[in-house]
Amino acid sequence: MYTRIHSREVKKATVNLLEERGVSVKEIAEIVYEMQLPYNHNLTIEDCTESVEAVLAKREIQHAILVGIELDRLAEKKLLSEPLQTIVESDEGLFGIDETIGLGAVLTYGSIAVTTYGHLDKRKIGIIKKLDTKSGAGVHTFLDDLVASVAACAASRIAHKQRDLEELVVDLESK
Ligand code: MG
Repeated sequence: MYTRIHSREVKKATVNLLEERGVSVKEIAEIVYEMQLPYNHNLTIEDCTESVEAVLAKREIQHAILVGIELDRLAEKKLLSEPLQTIVESDEGLFGIDETIGLGAVLTYGSIAVTTYGHLDKRKIGIIKKLDTKSGAGVHTFLDDLVASVAACAASRIAHKQRDLEELVVDLESK
């Protein structure tokens, strides 16, 4: 039987899961701040935190995070089947499904989110870099891309909101 779980519950589970895996909302907000500050000098870390929280309330994002982290955890416990176990565990460069899941989740936030995601994927900053360096314990093959995805969506939300504001100012000034 189909049972619907309330979005608030799923959000709570998602945030808890991220924290369990060593990623806080604040650390994602810090990436958003760094990405958006050049375009918005009045931006505060609170704005970024609010934006990350809003992104984490979205089903598409929650589902991507739940699936990705589950696979990381299973790989950590060596519970995946071969050859997937070795591929995920060793974060093989040609795998690409981790990036694809992250990319899928940013699509609803438009082209700014896609561009920001691509940038974060290449120039890993903040907590993403920490997750990507393989020296740390644990498997984070999916997690680094998921964090980049949430940060890119939150950055895009801020950019769109700011553009709305700028358009409003231009509108009002022309009246
Ligand atoms: Mg990855």
